[in-house]
Amino acid sequence: MSSISDDIFEQRRLKMVKEQIVKRGVTDNAVIQTMSKLPRHLFVPERFIDDAYEDGPLSIGEGQTISQPYVVASMTSHLLLSNDSRVLEIGTGSGYQTAILAEIAKAVYTIERIAELLPKAERMFELLGYDNIFTKHADGSSGWPEAAPFDAIIVTAAAKDIPEILTLQLKAEGIMIIPLERDAIDKQELVKVKKSADGLKQETLYPVRFVPLLRDTEN
Ligand code: SAH
Repeated sequence: MSSISDDIFEQRRLKMVKEQIVKRGVTDNAVIQTMSKLPRHLFVPERFIDDAYEDGPLSIGEGQTISQPYVVASMTSHLLLSNDSRVLEIGTGSGYQTAILAEIAKAVYTIERIAELLPKAERMFELLGYDNIFTKHADGSSGWPEAAPFDAIIVTAAAKDIPEILTLQLKAEGIMIIPLERDAIDKQELVKVKKSADGLKQETLYPVRFVPLLRDTEN
């Protein structure tokens, strides 16, 4: 890639961070720094490379999407990660969210249910040199018991309810961010779950639109 095209993407990336993320209230410095440097255009299908820094989700094939940049920033900042955190991600997809987590946290365990999507994400992790990302092809609703407990869990597909198995794999004081389907047709909300001494505390954040969490490993 020429330095001129790199420069175009850097300008677009910084504009994305300023206008879509900082302007909408994300203040987490690690998230802002990471999203300012991570090449999102490498995680989208080539035909969408020109749209990589636009304000919305994009199709990545297999009926799935790479999440909107603002949603990635907001979800990540709600996890309150440190460089000591071990994170579980359900729904690797393009791997963009995974890479953001890997830049900020100590280790990321990511599960993808659609086998066809994993190789491309894994190639990106290798290309960008991450040695703290662990991938698995499975139904993420069962979590990753061998690697549990986690400081944080992020689910990037919409569930009907909070999977209890996942809450069991969360450390005391751990945080889970998950989009939940609500009763009204087509309604989803992003929910933050915090594990504390008196149980699970839920906080509804804002309406979102995610692909549904798939429940089997047929594919
Ligand atoms: N965070 C990713 C993907 C978002 S789309 C990105 O921004 O690129 C949601 C992803 O979750 C899809 O790749 C979908 O295949 C995956 N998914 C859906 N149900 C799942 C399940 N039960 N277990 C693991 N992954 C699942």
